[in-house]
Amino acid sequence: MTDTVPENSHWIVQLNYRNRTASFALLFAAIGVHLIGLGQGWVVWIFLAAQFLLYPHLMYLRASRSSNPLVTELNSLLCDCLLFGIWIGWLGFPLWITYTMVMGVTINLMVFRGPRGLLQATATLCAGIGLSLLFHTPHLAVYTNWVSNLLCIVGLSLYLMMVGNVAFTRNDRIREARDQLHESQDALQRANRALQQQLKENKLLQQQLRDMADRDPLTDAYNRRYFDVTIARELSFCQRHGQPLSLILIDIDHFKSVNDDHGHQAGDLLLIALAKLLNQNSRASDIVCRFGGEEFLVALPNTDCITAQARAEAYRQAFAALGIQWQGQTVSRTISLGVACFPVQASDAEGLLQCADIALYRAKKSGRNCVIAYANEQHSSTEEPAGD
Ligand code: GH3
Ligand code: MG
Ligand code: MG
Repeated sequence: MTDTVPENSHWIVQLNYRNRTASFALLFAAIGVHLIGLGQGWVVWIFLAAQFLLYPHLMYLRASRSSNPLVTELNSLLCDCLLFGIWIGWLGFPLWITYTMVMGVTINLMVFRGPRGLLQATATLCAGIGLSLLFHTPHLAVYTNWVSNLLCIVGLSLYLMMVGNVAFTRNDRIREARDQLHESQDALQRANRALQQQLKENKLLQQQLRDMADRDPLTDAYNRRYFDVTIARELSFCQRHGQPLSLILIDIDHFKSVNDDHGHQAGDLLLIALAKLLNQNSRASDIVCRFGGEEFLVALPNTDCITAQARAEAYRQAFAALGIQWQGQTVSRTISLGVACFPVQASDAEGLLQCADIALYRAKKSGRNCVIAYANEQHSSTEEPAGD
């Protein structure tokens, strides 16, 4: 298991520096008071000062200059353990001093490494004690005077309180970070929802634009451009599947007189009514388009001549029965229809349209308000297609 180094690991170095400096100073006092009682020489005092007053600063310098401060700091804690072990063994296991030192380093390592820290602290302390016993005659001097005891109790208590406070502060920071994360997630979700909505609106707008490009604005029937694009596709589909396709070309009879007698608006209403009627009486697969002026075209995929003629007749009857209300008057007209079929009469869109046009011309010539299906024998060179 390796220690992961958080980005802000330096805070641990700072924290341990503060804690170590304060607690070591108290230990210096506690051991110092004990040593005065024992009457030790100045050499011991030099070691004591080096260990408890100078050492914390050296450890801080080492960790803060390290490329991996957390790992260095944790190694420093192990170093504390080893040195404390040496002091404990050398001092002859003074009860309160030993307890204070053992608890201090053990808690510190456990905070960062859990039970593994406890094991490492114990093992290193034992190693330190072992080292001291190698170079110093083993002895027991468990009792210390009350001042030393008091300093140990105060020192350890303060140290444990500092550890508790650190745990609290960290918890608080983690909670703050979690709250911020939740807020960011919420904001992200809101932005995502707004984006989805925008995408939906864009799609709708695109569809509307496509419709506008494909449809006649007055009647909402498909326009000629759409017909030109679609008929080629429909014809090749029918060809591949051996299906027929019929065209019905429709022209309103004497439509000009509607405009003349009732005005352009009445004419527009009649065009709208015819488009509606054609759509209502057609299948979803049929293509109803306004071909120009008062002329409409219906393409019927998979429909033979007989069926197309019947459909044309249905259109004719329905329109003849229809009247629009305009300024208190009923305005009605009839329609003439020409029918042509693929593949019997033509094999492409252009030929098929020509045939339907000729059939419509014949319907007009036959007195209007009728359906004429194109027949090859009817197509003589003298016949001219109907114009608007
Ligand atoms: P026929 O029976 O021979 O077809 O006679 P018609 O009067 O229907 O044919 P004609 O070609 O003489 O007249 C077509 C008229 O349609 C002329 C034009 O002003 C009118 N028209 C074309 N487009 C529109 C339109 O969008 N709205 C209106 N109100 N009239 C239109
Ligand atoms: Mg007309
Ligand atoms: Mg016309």
